[in-house]
Amino acid sequence: MAKDKSASPGNSAPNPSAGNVVSLPTRCPVEGCGKKPSRMHFCSEHFEWFKMGLVNRQGERPKDFDKKYQAYLRKQEKAA
Ligand SMILES: [Zn+2]
Repeated sequence: MAKDKSASPGNSAPNPSAGNVVSLPTRCPVEGCGKKPSRMHFCSEHFEWFKMGLVNRQGERPKDFDKKYQAYLRKQEKAA
């Protein structure tokens, strides 16, 4: 009755041979930035962007970036 458990989807144990996480960039990944990261791998400014959904983890902008960015700027003005 030995069932093969190796294919169990709930098993998240790290695999030392294949679990080599892509090394974190040493610079903010947002295009045109390249500052030193201070939060996660973003600079402080772009960490805010990430929280607001302006960029994803890879520093890429979504299709509706402009819309989100305008909303972000408006929020910044209100907070100031
Ligand atoms: Zn940045």
